[in-house]
Amino acid sequence: MTDYYGNHFSLSTSRSNFAEAQTSQDAAEITDPPRGVCDGGRQYDRLLDAIPDIVWTANAGGSATYFSQRWEDYTGIPVSAALDFGYLAQVHPDDRDRLGARSQLIVSQQPSYEIEFRLRARSGIYRWHLARASRVNTDSEGVLEWVGTYTDIDGFKQTQDRLEAETDLLHGLARSSAREKAESLRAAKKVREAQQQHLQAVERLTNLLNPRGQNFSELLSALADATIEMIAGAQFCLVALTECDRSRLKFSAVRGLENFGAGKRLYLQDKLLSEAFVTGSSQLSLPYSDGEVPGVACAVAIESPQTGRLGVLAIGNWQDSKAIDAETLPLLAVIARQAAIAIDSVRAIETVKKQEQLLDLQKDLLLRQQEELQNQRCLLQQQDLQLLEAAQLKSQFLGTISHELRTPMNAIIGFSELLLRQHQQLLTTQQKDLVGRIFQNGKNLLLLINDILDFSKIESGCTELEIEEFDLAHLVIDVALEFGNQVTEKNLVMSVSVHLQHQFIVNDKSRLRQILVNLISNAVKFTHEGSICIEVRELRSDRLTITVQDTGIGISETYLPHIFDKFRQADQTTSRKYPGTGLGLAISESLVKMMDCTISAESQLEKGSTFRLELPRQIQQIIA
Ligand code: ADP
Repeated sequence: MTDYYGNHFSLSTSRSNFAEAQTSQDAAEITDPPRGVCDGGRQYDRLLDAIPDIVWTANAGGSATYFSQRWEDYTGIPVSAALDFGYLAQVHPDDRDRLGARSQLIVSQQPSYEIEFRLRARSGIYRWHLARASRVNTDSEGVLEWVGTYTDIDGFKQTQDRLEAETDLLHGLARSSAREKAESLRAAKKVREAQQQHLQAVERLTNLLNPRGQNFSELLSALADATIEMIAGAQFCLVALTECDRSRLKFSAVRGLENFGAGKRLYLQDKLLSEAFVTGSSQLSLPYSDGEVPGVACAVAIESPQTGRLGVLAIGNWQDSKAIDAETLPLLAVIARQAAIAIDSVRAIETVKKQEQLLDLQKDLLLRQQEELQNQRCLLQQQDLQLLEAAQLKSQFLGTISHELRTPMNAIIGFSELLLRQHQQLLTTQQKDLVGRIFQNGKNLLLLINDILDFSKIESGCTELEIEEFDLAHLVIDVALEFGNQVTEKNLVMSVSVHLQHQFIVNDKSRLRQILVNLISNAVKFTHEGSICIEVRELRSDRLTITVQDTGIGISETYLPHIFDKFRQADQTTSRKYPGTGLGLAISESLVKMMDCTISAESQLEKGSTFRLELPRQIQQIIA
């Protein structure tokens, strides 16, 4: 028995049971025609009507004798209209003959049959049905009748059709994917072959272009040779690289153009190369060749990942326009890529070599400079020695000259003073005046000579400090007292105040005296009224200050910064009004530096000046 799946499964089971029950009964037991069944018992009719399949009976010739109520419910056609062969009107025209012929078969030959056909439903739509029939003997004479059912199997049929269609589709897909697979396998094989070919080309080219020991032009010639060798059909090869400014391509290596006429312009240069340089690759194919234009040529850009587009690699064939085809371009591109790497390497090597050469040159230069420096050092040492010698000579000279100058000056000053003091009565007034002038000018001259000699000695480094411990308060008061007469003569007031816990300091006493004399003498010289205050204080425990303040003429703002310059006096009139060399403060400043002191000045014109000397309690050189 056939099993059907779908929405009729459970129903078909009950129908099958019914059919089996029918067929399993002895024919003799069903002696009444089905109509009699209907007539005979209403309960039996209700049972048949309750079956969801259409139940029918027919005679041996296929003429229907009974349909259950389900027929009418399903087709909308009354059962009476379906009897005999009326039911065939509801069967699809294409299936009528088949259905009719099936039921008319000689009954003895088949106890049952099944056939699929389309039955029109109430809605007018044909739906597939399965007709199942079994023979029954209706009387003792052996006249046969059919008892059967029509079961709606449209849902199952549609599912089956869909499945078949999907199976077909899957088969189709399987066939096409197998085809595609085969095709992609072929393509992959081709790609692999091409890759292998490229790899071999790269290896070969790498060997050919091995840059060790090659210079740049050798590399490019090797590249052109290798390209011709590797690409069958290539008669010539050009390597054109950009110039420094990248504005123009220049033939850097040419191979296979030996037969090209001298002086002829190569057509390639304008078209093929520049196009390849701009676009990355280009191809030229002409059906003819006049000897100037090749039959076929192609070019690719030589592009370095590091330095960008370097130039173009081109190949061509003069006669045969088919000697180079489109498949050659990828191989040429592979060669160009390797070429870019080799060019970069050789350029890098050349740069390094140039830098090495430059370094060598710089090294030579440095060596020469070192030699020169050494010579100059020797020269300087010699000059140092000479200077030292000169300084010694100068010192000797200064010693001598100071003695030679002071001796007559002392005589002039001494004798003129003697004349003025002891022999005044022998001299007339005019003579006294003249001797007085000799005395005063002699003193001035001696002062000047002393200053100049002092300054020269300091400048030439011949001055040496004589360090000792002494009482600073005592020194300051002593120097101030030296100017007592002048202060009185000028009707000035001078005060000295000392604020020291410890009065002793360590330094060069006579040099400090010299500085103090200069500062106090200037204060007295440039003050006409008012006072001069000298003050000694402790700045810190190890640092002291001596201030000389006056209420004199003061120093202008413009001159104040130059106060310690040598031979400088405030103005021309000052030098005439106030005697002096203009060296006192310069000498003082030089001495101050030697003595680990500092000196500064503050002043206001016509108000007075303040000179401040800062000195250590103990000079550092001693400790050192
Ligand atoms: P000299 O006094 O011999 O000219 P100095 O070097 O001692 O040389 O002084 C330089 C100049 O500085 C002086 O000529 C003067 O113009 C100015 N000067 C120095 N001390 C004072 C001061 N106390 N008041 C005004 N001017 C001064």
